Amino acid sequence: MSTSRKTAAGERIVRCPACGNDSVYGPSNPYRPFCSARCKGIDLGAWASEEFRMPTDAPPDDEAFGDPKLQ
Ligand SMILES: [Zn+2]
Repeated sequence: MSTSRKTAAGERIVRCPACGNDSVYGPSNPYRPFCSARCKGIDLGAWASEEFRMPTDAPPDDEAFGDPKLQ
């Protein structure tokens, strides 16, 4: 297994979650972990449509906000 592939600039190479191609996981890739804006857009679209179906008005990442009842 080659899990520590890197570019010449020392940035990690990961697999794009959308298309499976190589993706630079570093400051030079604003779409990381995706390889391109297109792949990132696909993922965001999926999230948006899924969120649209949810009947709750609570924020999706409640970890960041915490449960007010527990504070
Ligand atoms: Zn991709």
